[in-house]
Amino acid sequence: MPVGGRKQAPDAVEHERATVTSTVSGKEWELPGMWNRMFEQRVIWDYTTDGFEKIASLAGGESLEWCYGCAKCVPVCPVDLVGEYGPRKIHRKVQTGLDLFTSDDLWLCTTCANCLRVCPKEVDMIQIMPAVREVAVGEGRIPAELQEVFEKTFRYGNALGENPRRRHGWTRDAGVPVRVLPSEPGPVDVLFYVEDYWSYHPRGQDAARAFARILASLGVDYGILGAEEKTIGDSQRLAGERGLFEALMEDVVATLVHYEFKRIVTPDPHGFNALVKEYPKRGHTYEVLHYTQLLAPLVDRIEWRKELDLTVTFHDPCYLGRHNGEYDAPRRLLEAIPGVRLVEMGRCRENGYCCGGGGGGMWLDGFTANHTSERLSERRVREAVESGADVLAVCCPYEVSRFEDGAKSTGNDGLKVRDIVELIDEAMGGAERA
Ligand code: SF4
Ligand code: SF4
Repeated sequence: MPVGGRKQAPDAVEHERATVTSTVSGKEWELPGMWNRMFEQRVIWDYTTDGFEKIASLAGGESLEWCYGCAKCVPVCPVDLVGEYGPRKIHRKVQTGLDLFTSDDLWLCTTCANCLRVCPKEVDMIQIMPAVREVAVGEGRIPAELQEVFEKTFRYGNALGENPRRRHGWTRDAGVPVRVLPSEPGPVDVLFYVEDYWSYHPRGQDAARAFARILASLGVDYGILGAEEKTIGDSQRLAGERGLFEALMEDVVATLVHYEFKRIVTPDPHGFNALVKEYPKRGHTYEVLHYTQLLAPLVDRIEWRKELDLTVTFHDPCYLGRHNGEYDAPRRLLEAIPGVRLVEMGRCRENGYCCGGGGGGMWLDGFTANHTSERLSERRVREAVESGADVLAVCCPYEVSRFEDGAKSTGNDGLKVRDIVELIDEAMGGAERA
């Protein structure tokens, strides 16, 4: 009897004789051969529920077994577009004996939420994957490159393993003063939570400096935490290190209590997601904005000095768009920049394609390469090129380096990748103006 794979007609088994007995009259009825086939063992009897029971016993793991196989999730799964994936396929594999706890499939989901958007049964990979990963991490079964990031985050408070004292090194070349609150205390309107990639990655630092210049020209009263800032670590949580995330949360909250601010603004949709969704579950509630949400209402006050003459397409970050519903603020900013013509890619807004960086994917490119035909970021770069854009605009700190690498590796060096603040800053006159 075949199990799984393509549908096949079952082998007919003709019983010589089969009867049923009426429960009313006690009379025996002989069944004709064609009906006897119903007594043959069917494929469904060969399924096992063991895998589902193990996953469903975890908080958050319950929904995998709710799948009824409609397959709506597969064509929207970004990983399936470059490989074989999607909740239905995972469900089927578990049904036919896969141990998800030890399988490489466990690490391929980027928790992008596009499947959850379309799933009629609300099979929730954003809960399932972190729950199963947490067990795998606890048992030491974890890709080496991810383990390294967890260790760096634990030791240094950032995923890059950089010296915390160099967190605000980028401010030196910003061209405007940046208030570092531990050395210049006092109340501020905005606490600018810089996060790791804008603090340390050279291309992230470019964006941080551009943002500082924009804030200065708009007269925003803000400060940063400098060496006292630690990553919020939401991607580490989704990659299975909830314990590390919660320890970081305690540190972050203990630091924030020393400072007076009205709202937190961050460029990182992952940190943003945790601050608005995870922190309140522990009673830590702040007013939190993504940087595009701070700037969009102020856009009419910006003094433009240059027309850019660029066709720009925009990549929606999964954790700003699908996870938190913000699609308009980034577009409002881009449309306001003189000389920018905004064009959309086929997959955008609610159906935006994932860059591959979410849910720990940021640090799993080597591991993922063994399971996919190309990186998700490479796929997205090709979509951006097809849109006819000169520039792929982003507003998540993971994405500039991911897409710049993708542009090089796919031979699309002509496509420029820019954070939205870099474009705004350029049209405002850039560092020379500051
Ligand atoms: S959309 Fe939901 S119910 Fe349908 S196959 Fe996918 S996981 Fe199963
Ligand atoms: S969350 Fe995204 S990557 Fe994960 S299975 Fe769903 S669609 Fe695929």
